[in-house]
Amino acid sequence: MTDEAAQPTQPAQPAHTRMHSVSPETQDIVDLVLDYSRRRILATDTPLDHAASPSELRRLAGTTISEEGLGSRRALSVFELVLAPACITTDHPQYLSFIPSAPSKAAVAFDLVVSASALYGGSWMEGSGAVYAENEVLAWLAGEFGLPAGAGGVFVQGGTIGNLSALVAARDHARRARVAAGLGRRPEGGWAVVCSAEAHSSVKSAAEIMDVDVIAVPGGDTGSLSAAAVRTALEEQGERVFAVVATGGSTNFGIVDDIAGVAALKDDFEFWLHIDGAYGLTAMLSPLARDSFAGVERADSVIVDPHKWLFAPYDVCALIYRDPEQGRLAHTQHAEYLDVLTDRALYDPSDYSIQLTRRPRGLPLWFSLATYGAATYRDAVTHSIALAREIAEEIERRPGFSLVRRPQLSVVVFERDGWEKADYERWSDALLEEQRAFVVPSSHAGRTNARFAIVNPLTTFEQLSAILDTME
Ligand SMILES: *Cc1c(COP(=O)(O)O)cnc(C)c1O
Repeated sequence: MTDEAAQPTQPAQPAHTRMHSVSPETQDIVDLVLDYSRRRILATDTPLDHAASPSELRRLAGTTISEEGLGSRRALSVFELVLAPACITTDHPQYLSFIPSAPSKAAVAFDLVVSASALYGGSWMEGSGAVYAENEVLAWLAGEFGLPAGAGGVFVQGGTIGNLSALVAARDHARRARVAAGLGRRPEGGWAVVCSAEAHSSVKSAAEIMDVDVIAVPGGDTGSLSAAAVRTALEEQGERVFAVVATGGSTNFGIVDDIAGVAALKDDFEFWLHIDGAYGLTAMLSPLARDSFAGVERADSVIVDPHKWLFAPYDVCALIYRDPEQGRLAHTQHAEYLDVLTDRALYDPSDYSIQLTRRPRGLPLWFSLATYGAATYRDAVTHSIALAREIAEEIERRPGFSLVRRPQLSVVVFERDGWEKADYERWSDALLEEQRAFVVPSSHAGRTNARFAIVNPLTTFEQLSAILDTME
């Protein structure tokens, strides 16, 4: 007998199982991808990179989808050499536009585990362990925000979905109260939500989807929503108003509305208080900013995006209800195939927002918080706020620069005296061209300005100061 005949013959791998079986090919793919991930997570010199044009990408990446497939090596090298460099590195310490991302190393690494484990986070029946851990994080956040024990909710994709889900619950609550009182499902004139004129665009978008009116109250000199203005709106609009949205840190300036004043109106009016804290509510972790958020403890719902300032990777928003039952009543989906879930009194995250299937996207944050502890988070948040104050003072000191507003949280908006829009654009383009920083121009009241949004603990005073030097 030849050697070959002595070997048990391997059954040929059926073609349809190629992608799922544990074969040498699969091991190779997994090694390749984990290797790349490990290098990227541990790299300290990932460049800022920049967008490429569609034609450039067509030329460099070409057509990658074919009947035969490229194989993992070629596919990954297209990603590594062409696609990834055409994406801005949002966790770069000198990425200072919009709201950057700054995921902790533990959170990023654990995101791989969440994917590897095929966890389903929609129901307790399927994902109890994951849901338990996510809920522990939500309860911890609720405690930080001063909400009562029992407050809870769900991690959703982002602040836009969080705001929409909260407002849907708010309207459902108001509608049920009307129906219980023997009134029609909607008030004369239709439902309305009150918010600041400076509220995030996602609030207007939610209102559009819900077909409700937005009563936008002017922010006043400070840009902050005042209780007096909300009182006027409530008096004028009466029962039409099912919710008031206060912003806990506006995206453009980091302005915190007069939440305590607005919350006190609950003594005189019936409304659901929602706090949009997608960017800023995290600042409550720091003693430097906590006091600005008095009144949050009276909110009926709040949102905060861990992908902004809580050091989680994209994309995740914590949606927390004071009374989660209100969220459940509004959002539980009913279907024959789901009855097996809805008939049991278990905590199903899908019942609390406008999504059914969900990955337990709160787990990277859970792992990171569990690993480093809350005190590390407080320090990191405090660093950003302190740095924003320091660079604001530096801007005030420098001739030729002026601060548009004193930073309340970690956003610093300033002008270079005498510069026009085109000057800012040229300067911003050059900064990225030279791979020094990503700072896009912003504007306020028709005037172009520059803006630093600081959330990355690795961002330093020296880096920011060097960016100011480029404007001299
Ligand atoms: C970013 C932001 C949102 C929207 O959140 P996404 O996660 O981008 O959907 C809403 N409100 C405020 C105040 C924000 O800063």
